[in-house]
Amino acid sequence: MLSFDEALKITLDAVPAPEKVRVRLSAALDRVLAETVTARTSQPPFDASAMDGYAVKAASITSNASCEVAFQVAAGGDPGQTLPEGKVARIFTGAPLPAGADAVIIQENAARDGDIVTFSQGALEGQNIRRMGRDFALGDVLAEAGTRLKPAHIGLIASGNNAEIDVFRKPMVALLSTGDELAAIGSVLKPGQIVGSNALLLEAMLARHATAVSDLGHAPDSVDALAENIGGALGSDIDILVTTGGASVGDHDLLAPALEQLGAERLFWKSAMRPGKPAMLSSLNGKLIFTLPGNPVSAFVTATLFVIPAIRKWSGEKVTGLDLIDARLSGSLEANGPRRHFRRANLSLEYGSVIVRPINETDSAHQSSLAAANALLVQPENGPSLSDGALVQVLPL
Ligand code: AMP
Ligand code: MG
Repeated sequence: MLSFDEALKITLDAVPAPEKVRVRLSAALDRVLAETVTARTSQPPFDASAMDGYAVKAASITSNASCEVAFQVAAGGDPGQTLPEGKVARIFTGAPLPAGADAVIIQENAARDGDIVTFSQGALEGQNIRRMGRDFALGDVLAEAGTRLKPAHIGLIASGNNAEIDVFRKPMVALLSTGDELAAIGSVLKPGQIVGSNALLLEAMLARHATAVSDLGHAPDSVDALAENIGGALGSDIDILVTTGGASVGDHDLLAPALEQLGAERLFWKSAMRPGKPAMLSSLNGKLIFTLPGNPVSAFVTATLFVIPAIRKWSGEKVTGLDLIDARLSGSLEANGPRRHFRRANLSLEYGSVIVRPINETDSAHQSSLAAANALLVQPENGPSLSDGALVQVLPL
């Protein structure tokens, strides 16, 4: 059987080169920059006061000096004013520093009486002033191509006066749940039905990666119906179709024949992993089709390990593998079989050590244990039994 690593490599290799799109900055959170963005203004754009107080010429102020207040300037005020010799100006945070001033004395160190102000301390040149370009200067690089934009990047790029930027296009994803037993969420269950929860699960997972999905609903267990639903989905403008259910080789697992009927190219089917062995990847007309197992934990794990890395790469991130971290095992684990095991687990930071506690539940239909987990503990193929304190690899969720 194909190894998990080979299956992941096939998945990543199947992703086309990312394409640029121009977007409003307001729509760019969590997107990957396709250009290096530079500043179209300096920040601050002028020498500005960092405090509320008085703009002064430092050399002319000593402790207990009294001066006449010539004018006042607030944020947004006239930047063209000049301090008359020997006088000071009332100034507020963010206001342009008048010509002739080189320091700001905070208002807490000033006593005002009419037009006269007396300072309890002298001033040092440059104090409480934000010099023009101190944060960044016109033309400076604000964010490199390839950066995944966090809120602080959005703020930085905005203050550099960029309203639009080039990011990489996100793939359009559609979800199709399959299975005769599936009922809509909120419906009255008929005997033998279960609530189809996978679509909402996957939608929530992809939302974390700023990817919107369209839910194509439920399809029954019939080759023709599946082929029709999948064919219809691939005829629309989606890039990736993710199905759940019917991926295995039982009499009612009909995704493989349906995809065959459509002429899809199979890139892999079945890999040595647990859960998720039956997951399949196919392509048709440049679109990728992930056929995930129906059990919710298997769907979650295979979406985490194949679909999300593919979407991240499609969206311009450099993805070469899983972002695993090392952790110390709390408790013990039995030796692993021939498939790589992704166990539900809890990761925590305890006294400066990264500790992982496996959850003792391996049923791939058991969702409450999945909800209780915040990580997947990775046990390698044929890995030995492990005792308390062993170093293991973990994928934070
Ligand atoms: P399958 O992969 O079709 O063999 O399904 C495996 C198990 O997952 C069965 O118990 C199904 O009822 C269940 N299942 C399939 N699809 C869904 C779904 N969308 N939501 C919840 N459970 C599902
Ligand atoms: Mg089924």
